[in-house]
Amino acid sequence: MQRPCNAKIVATLGPASADRATIAAMVQAGADVFRLNFSHGTHADHKARLDMIRSIESELGKPIGVLLDLQGPKLRVGTFANGPVQLVEGASFRLDLQRELPGDATRAPLPHPEIFAALTTGADLLLDDGRLRLRVEACGADFADTRVINGGQLSDRKGVNIPGVVLPMSAMTEKDRADLDYGMTLGVDWVALSFVQRAQDIVEVKQIVQGRAGIVAKLEKPAAIECLEAILAETDAVMVARGDLGVELPAEQVPAIQKRIVRACRRLGKPVIVATQMLESMVSAPVPTRAEASDVATAIYDGADAVMLSAESASGKYPVESVAMMDRIIAQTEADPFYRAAIDASHTPPTATTADAIGWAAHSVTDLLDVAAMVAYTSSGSSALRMARERPRAPIIGITPKRATARRLALVWGVNAVLCHDVMGVDEMTEVAVQNAVKIGFAEPGETIVIVAGMPFGTAGTTNLLRIAQVA
Ligand code: PEP
Repeated sequence: MQRPCNAKIVATLGPASADRATIAAMVQAGADVFRLNFSHGTHADHKARLDMIRSIESELGKPIGVLLDLQGPKLRVGTFANGPVQLVEGASFRLDLQRELPGDATRAPLPHPEIFAALTTGADLLLDDGRLRLRVEACGADFADTRVINGGQLSDRKGVNIPGVVLPMSAMTEKDRADLDYGMTLGVDWVALSFVQRAQDIVEVKQIVQGRAGIVAKLEKPAAIECLEAILAETDAVMVARGDLGVELPAEQVPAIQKRIVRACRRLGKPVIVATQMLESMVSAPVPTRAEASDVATAIYDGADAVMLSAESASGKYPVESVAMMDRIIAQTEADPFYRAAIDASHTPPTATTADAIGWAAHSVTDLLDVAAMVAYTSSGSSALRMARERPRAPIIGITPKRATARRLALVWGVNAVLCHDVMGVDEMTEVAVQNAVKIGFAEPGETIVIVAGMPFGTAGTTNLLRIAQVA
């Protein structure tokens, strides 16, 4: 069997990819995880897509991950009396809480008291994806008088970003709570929280999710970058959400932040997704720009777990071609001899824990012996994650008795998840590992495999066993 790529592909579903044939073609082209973007569509739309994914999954026998992306507290201006207005550079413009009074060229409603509570003189407000910039000259509990720094057209309900200001609000709105409850009834594998500002935001969502899905912190606010380590300590995975990040921060700062987040996640062994505009021009063209291909490759050389498609697969003209193109870029990059050197050079020493000692030892065995495959026997997914943290040369097989774990591992670098029955002891575990390594075509008789597991079986975070086995 052709060894699949290490890096995974997350594809966002939307109107361009809402039918079974397209979703199935995307899986065949290399999609590992589908993102259901709850900023758009109805609950019925998302359920229909999830049902199709599950039916394709059982047809192909390949675990597929589903990521529910919560909209989060997207801030917006109110509406205008007579359509769009033109804000002129240097002019004054007032924002206030009077939502019942439609806006004009001199003022607009901004129905978010928490913004006025946090604003200070000198702060900048960015409107419409950062196209317009207003600087606060005076403010109070229900108004802000601003100067237009970058002018342009402003229309109803355009988005507002306030870089550098920590807003006194939870990352979850009422809509998010309802969406999350619904997602839990659907049985999604990952939940992405938007506009995370602090570690407490993750704690709140974890209290609701109660382990039924993994949590992805979307890093798109400067405040989150400032407390990156605290957020990483709480979250299960991370998304570098470059769309909003590039509005809240100057675009030239995004590449270094992206690399910093990927490095930090790799150090901790937590999955990291690089997202947004990766193949943006494929929204309307059958091929990407060279710069876009290079952007995907950069994330792969850095060792990111996954790269993501947004509009390309959700609303573009070429959803399947975008997945296939991403897959080809990943395969080509991982085949480059410099790829292994780059991955090894950016590897950080493991932490002084039993689990990392086992992962590191397994990695050393693959450097010393000719190892055909590494098998993580994993109930919670934790042993597979510790193995993936090492970014080994040999392919990783994550064998698990839990369907939910197999699906969650679809996001993780290098892990090929396989479902199996519960095993009773080390001998049975070894037998199951060998059988599966052969069955999926990663090992042949006479070859060596390395197995890691946690004893007692079924207890999360107990990775403490390493076995070297010969395929009979
Ligand atoms: C982003 O801002 O990059 C992102 C992924 O978030 P969304 O697509 O939900 O706006």
